[in-house]
Amino acid sequence: MMRPMTNAAPQAAPFSPRPRDTDPLRLAVTQACRPPEPEALAPLLAQARLPAAMAQDIQARALRLAQGLRQREHASGRSGLVQGLLQQFALSSQEGVALMCLAEALLRIPDAATRDALIRDKIGTGDWAAHLGKSPSLFVNAATWGLLLTGRLVTTHSEGGLKDALRRITARGGEPLIRKGVDVAMRMMGEQFVTGETIEQALGKARTLEARGFRYSYDMLGEAALTGHDADRYMQSYVDAIHAIGRASAGRGVYEGPGISIKLSALHPRYARAQWQRVMDELYPRVLQLAELARGYDIGLNIDAEEADRLELSLDLLERLCHAPSLAGFKGIGFVIQAYQKRCPRVIDYCIDLARRSGHRLMIRLVKGAYWDSEIKRAQVDGLADYPVYTRKAHTDISYIACARKLLAAPDAVYPQFATHNAQTLATIYELAGPADYRPGQYEFQCLHGMGEPLYEQVVPERPCRIYAPVGTHETLLAYLVRRLLENGANTSFVNRVADATLPLEALIDNPVDTVDAEARAEGGAGLTHPRIALPPQLYGSARANSQGLDLAAEPTLQCVADAL
Ligand code: FAD
Repeated sequence: MMRPMTNAAPQAAPFSPRPRDTDPLRLAVTQACRPPEPEALAPLLAQARLPAAMAQDIQARALRLAQGLRQREHASGRSGLVQGLLQQFALSSQEGVALMCLAEALLRIPDAATRDALIRDKIGTGDWAAHLGKSPSLFVNAATWGLLLTGRLVTTHSEGGLKDALRRITARGGEPLIRKGVDVAMRMMGEQFVTGETIEQALGKARTLEARGFRYSYDMLGEAALTGHDADRYMQSYVDAIHAIGRASAGRGVYEGPGISIKLSALHPRYARAQWQRVMDELYPRVLQLAELARGYDIGLNIDAEEADRLELSLDLLERLCHAPSLAGFKGIGFVIQAYQKRCPRVIDYCIDLARRSGHRLMIRLVKGAYWDSEIKRAQVDGLADYPVYTRKAHTDISYIACARKLLAAPDAVYPQFATHNAQTLATIYELAGPADYRPGQYEFQCLHGMGEPLYEQVVPERPCRIYAPVGTHETLLAYLVRRLLENGANTSFVNRVADATLPLEALIDNPVDTVDAEARAEGGAGLTHPRIALPPQLYGSARANSQGLDLAAEPTLQCVADAL
């Protein structure tokens, strides 16, 4: 039975009922949130600098993998078509955003006649201006992606600009053609990035690649719960999924068998620092219940990483979970750590120590991080002193390598799961882990369904790879799709660059240490903030200082405010 959610009780204490941290490793996480970028990067740069012979082996392996990728037939199949579409209508273009808005609206209309009427109403010639301000805009829903797209959408895409972009696209065809086109494109993208509409369907589809040595972790699509009802629904879908995955696993265990990934924001509508007590009282029992269920089937349960301001909250939950008597000895507790966060190495130190203190071997998935745009924008809007994430891609790559070394050096405490689609990063991990000493259970790679298979078909079964498989209907797809589109469409991302046949392979697999060294020579210092991304206080250049804000997810800030109150 699920525990009912209570309404928020008035707080007796000020707003900060959380006990003070005393563990030095935990305090180190808190303190490392927003240091200057060069300071954060310096120790990592030293750790990512590998011996020349190893660096050569890495580049050779990365080149072979990238060549293999370019040669794969998939470029002509559905995924090739989808990639073409994504390059053509990237979300950084007016057309891309406008089309997504239209698609989002069309997907919710069941019949063709009304879909055509919507197209006519919203983008047919002539009467657009009359509708402005009267009917809700087609682009209103884009605001809900604002969290993901942030400034790009809000500031660079005006209502009029988006409308003109759609007109340009639709000028080439009539309503039925547009409707069909958008529908087919969305469904193609849905099939490309989503494994199945139900967990049973997804488990069935997984069998083909499982037979070739891949493993799976299933993710029930859906983003942050906005109401208690949403959270109940997500909870039930996780419970059902664990039963289905557990049965399909048939005792293969947490390493060989399938697992599940969960989002904490889906399990509680107020998963935020300001609601710490409710999170502990209401969300924690849910996570525990799911973990106990997973333990019963001996499948892994992984906690996804979300926005930076939720990191400490998720660590509080992890700490409790690791000490739950009912989970003693369970090897399937999983946690995701983002390398783009400046705190990443400190979070790893803390997790390794937590694993040892609580007698678990934690499954740690290392990712670069999927919320980069929003983290940057958020820090600017909130007027904070610095960013919680790096501002240059090469810095994140370096952090990833240094953090991978930390994880590989603690095999008693963690089972590292390296989630990347980048051939250079993959090759680095492969060589760092000591190819000659590889043993089952040492580590695994991970990729996203529809994005990583062509790369990892070249690696499996020599090394294991787990596919992260989103499950859900097309209606629940949008927010996930937007994150994938941002990644595929970003001109810094590996998946985008490998699809661009004009880019030489050598440029694709640049060693990030060389990149940073070259920048340091040109700029007179290593690890500097990106020259075109001003620190939040300097956002307005010489015109004026940005207004200063408080980081209300940071314990030291909250303590100061509480003391002052
Ligand atoms: P690359 O192209 O090498 O790297 C792209 C990444 O570099 C960007 O995503 C960003 O993190 C970083 N980057 C880009 N530009 C800059 C810049 N200017 N400054 C600093 N950094 C920059 N993400 C989560 O956040 N939480 C999760 O729980 C999560 N789970 C995942 C599970 C799996 C199995 C996989 C494969 C991915 C998951 N991700 C998750 C998404 C993941 O963060 C992205 O797929 C990943 O960042 C892309 O990295 P890459 O090595 O494949 O690609």
